[in-house]
Amino acid sequence: MPRVTLNDGHAIPQFGLGVYHVPPEDTADIVRTALELGYRHVDTAQGYGNEAGVGQGLRDAGVAREDVWITTKLDDEAHGYDAARAALDESLRRLGTDHVDLFLVHRPGEQDVETWRAFEALREDGRVRSVGLSNFGRRGIERLVERTGLVPAVNQIRVNPRTPHRGLQRYHRRRGITTESWGPLREGRLVGHPTARRVAARVGRTPAQVILRWHLQRGIVVFPKSADPARLAENIGITDFVLSRRDMAAIDLVRRRP
Ligand code: NAD
Repeated sequence: MPRVTLNDGHAIPQFGLGVYHVPPEDTADIVRTALELGYRHVDTAQGYGNEAGVGQGLRDAGVAREDVWITTKLDDEAHGYDAARAALDESLRRLGTDHVDLFLVHRPGEQDVETWRAFEALREDGRVRSVGLSNFGRRGIERLVERTGLVPAVNQIRVNPRTPHRGLQRYHRRRGITTESWGPLREGRLVGHPTARRVAARVGRTPAQVILRWHLQRGIVVFPKSADPARLAENIGITDFVLSRRDMAAIDLVRRRP
């Protein structure tokens, strides 16, 4: 699996598993299955209520902690300097680990500057390796950088061929911020798109695979969610083919044809 080197030097696996809406009681099984299939990156959040299952799945699979990238995100109710630090400790307890690889501010809030200072402190004391934002626009990011001097390693936003957010990604690149995509399949809706199906037939892959591959070739970090073992296997099968410029351009047109 390719990795992307972040602006702080850490290398994140470019593909992983998202566990939004995965019920807490099913999470350990799904995470273990994914790890057995070769996944090495899990994207969870305090708000998903399934961090304990992520930690359990990791232990059940018997994969070394250092070999798996774990991202979690701060709950909207835990903004502020002390609250954010305490919330991270709770995440570590639920995950059963002494650090997370990436901690994100899930959404902008009133106390972003204090929250971001807490993230900086958490990174300095090693409980968090990389820090980033999610659902921030350019102005919100610039404000934080101006006030604290700390540039986020990533911004996780809703990107897919239908809503590519090219302008925001150009800004990320200029700032050295890596783009992470949430909802890369548009919650599954893009797999039925005629263009995705046509490109998939041309290259002998599935629509989900060509859409996920489009993200990889644009340098985006992606972690589709699935609870189905066959789809988990399908989604990770995107490293042994390359989309041509023509295929990439065809998928770009998804934007114009809903
Ligand atoms: P997604 O685009 O990954 O779509 C997931 C849905 O697509 C699944 O529920 C399934 O129905 C379908 N699917 C998956 N693989 C398929 C396949 N091979 N063929 C056909 N259908 C398939 O949407 P998502 O889960 O919302 O986003 C991915 C991850 O991004 C989440 O799990 C979560 O980790 C993260 N996320 C973050 C935020 C945020 O605010 N930062 C918001 C939403 C999601």
